[in-house]
Amino acid sequence: MFDEAERRGGCLCGAIRYRLLTEPYDAGYCHCRMCQLSSGAPATVFATVPRADFLLEKGDLVCRRSSDIGERWFCGDCGTPIAMVVDHAPDEIDFTVVTLDDSIDLPPRFHIWRESRIGWFDTIDALPRHERSRPQTGSPMHDAMAKRHPIHAG
Ligand SMILES: [Zn+2]
Ligand SMILES: [Zn+2]
Repeated sequence: MFDEAERRGGCLCGAIRYRLLTEPYDAGYCHCRMCQLSSGAPATVFATVPRADFLLEKGDLVCRRSSDIGERWFCGDCGTPIAMVVDHAPDEIDFTVVTLDDSIDLPPRFHIWRESRIGWFDTIDALPRHERSRPQTGSPMHDAMAKRHPIHAG
């Protein structure tokens, strides 16, 4: 059971605090261009929980649609990217793993959107590397973004 190992996290300035009610799954690096721009970093590590198990305990997240089928949530005060929700999986939320207070035991298990990886950035691991989304999950959102953003589709 999960109760005592409850995970908490928040943003840089402290305005946002959240809690997870269940253990996250599907932790992985995303190298897509949208993640690079929204984070200002070469890649973002997301993991997933059922949306109802992501509990905002303090503050209000700002929501911005980053494509016609997905939205990103961040702290309006300091800009820390906290989560994203895609329309094709409305019952799940992908949150940024490093915003957890302790994420040491939640390592990424795969890379997606390697085709838009920054050339000088790589990690030393033997994790599966997918040029686009993971075959078993698909990702209409990213596919849609790739079509609309030449920099990403290239
Ligand atoms: Zn903040
Ligand atoms: Zn991404």
